[in-house]
Amino acid sequence: MYNLVVFGAPGSGKGTQSARMIDEYGLYHISTGELLRDHIARQTELGRIADEYISQGHLIPDDLMISILENTLDSNPETASGVIFDGFPRTIPQAEALNGMLERRGAKVNAVIGLEVDDAELIDRLLKRGQESGRSDDNLETINERLNVYNKQTAPLRDFYIKEGKYHAIKGSGSIDDIFNEIRTRLNSVKN
Ligand code: AMP
Repeated sequence: MYNLVVFGAPGSGKGTQSARMIDEYGLYHISTGELLRDHIARQTELGRIADEYISQGHLIPDDLMISILENTLDSNPETASGVIFDGFPRTIPQAEALNGMLERRGAKVNAVIGLEVDDAELIDRLLKRGQESGRSDDNLETINERLNVYNKQTAPLRDFYIKEGKYHAIKGSGSIDDIFNEIRTRLNSVKN
């Protein structure tokens, strides 16, 4: 079982690079953002709750997010052969919970790919995406809030995973192919 975390600020290319990695490594993809947007589209009770946080640019509370994640692992047996976690964890408690969940399943986070992009480029990309995505959180006010939340609550995970010896910093600007090649080179050197 090979588990990868794709980590980075909103707009850093997590979804785009995850799609490339699924093709290359045949791993199960869990994007917590997509999962929540699916609930919003289907107008479920969870979708209603999630929408309140997402449209403000805030994170879904840890307890709720962790139970959604564990539920996703339990209800998709294919996850046992390896997962790309895209957008999870986003806080230290989520990272600790993920370590526990994987340990109970005889697994671990093998590597963390950290896509690093400067703020000006992130804002530019998210505004462009907002013109096409129709996402309620891709507008300037919410983008700024999401970047604040990222810097306060999510960025500390970089140190968390550096201490665990799992963090691989990848320059997230440039062409999609070049970034993916860099990821592949790194992952090939840490197959464990
Ligand atoms: P994303 O598609 O990864 O940019 O996620 C969109 C939004 O979904 C985020 O801004 C959060 O409001 C929510 N979200 C996604 N993943 C998480 C998570 N792991 N913890 C808390 N909230 C999340």
